[in-house]
Amino acid sequence: MSDYPAHIEIEPHVHLVRGENEARFPEANTLLIDDEILTLVDAGSNPNQVFSTLKDLGHQPEDLDRIVLTHYHADHKGYANVLRQISDCEVLCHPLAQDGVMSFSNMLKFIGIHSQVVKDHWLNLLDARLPHVKEDYIVDGNFQDGKAISCGEVELIPLHSPGHTHDHTCFGINGLEKILLVDIDLTDFGPWYGNVVSDLERFKESIQRIIDLQPEMGISSHLIEPVTVGLQEQLKSYLALFQRRDDDIVQRIAEGYDTAKKLAHIPIIYPRIPHPVYYAFEEVMIEKHIEHLIKEDRIIRENGQLLLLRT
Ligand SMILES: [Zn+2]
Repeated sequence: MSDYPAHIEIEPHVHLVRGENEARFPEANTLLIDDEILTLVDAGSNPNQVFSTLKDLGHQPEDLDRIVLTHYHADHKGYANVLRQISDCEVLCHPLAQDGVMSFSNMLKFIGIHSQVVKDHWLNLLDARLPHVKEDYIVDGNFQDGKAISCGEVELIPLHSPGHTHDHTCFGINGLEKILLVDIDLTDFGPWYGNVVSDLERFKESIQRIIDLQPEMGISSHLIEPVTVGLQEQLKSYLALFQRRDDDIVQRIAEGYDTAKKLAHIPIIYPRIPHPVYYAFEEVMIEKHIEHLIKEDRIIRENGQLLLLRT
């Protein structure tokens, strides 16, 4: 068990269920809407956290009516299948998430894992830390961007915010003053876009759209405290990391690291590579920066080698 309370109230009927280990990957927070339709947003927290929250609020795991998934990632769809088996709840996701949630092999396609070596590394990581996500999931239906999901008194407003993944969706909680930011996660690590369905430009646009909404509270999937103080500044700093990574990569190209693979082995984005599969994610992210830097005429690629045009 964690040394912090499993849940905190965000507002009446709305509770943040904190993942274990400070909600760091492969854990994530979930949101419990204790309303007419007992709803969980995401299912990545250890079920013990969810069960103890339900118990504290006078419910049983069997009472769960619905799970709404923010995107197809393993640390978010998480235990949806396990919880569904216990409660027979319905599972909803964005139409673009459906294939990746339902089928493990489609999840690998969305991630962009093609080579056997990377696949073996990924399966090794899943076996060690996320064994439950290797099965196929049942999805009962989709939500639509902008169309409120009513839980009774509480409404969840889906805000499709692609970039981290193509299906990534934030949720306004009873309006847009409090937003579940999901994997616009405001962690020190910064934005993550290591899948084939990730998109650097769309990620930046999605963060900017959240900034423009000027929410009062942002709830990250990977921070156990909601962010209120300095939220705008934190979102802006998070957005600024794209530029910083661009500049770091340009700097390293100037030093002679002239392929994505060489850059990935420094590494640039991960402070360290905790598992071999992360080299693949690091390389995918660096490649997205390279494409951006080529478009901006800062670098060119000739015969597979990166060359600096301007710093
Ligand atoms: Zn994610």
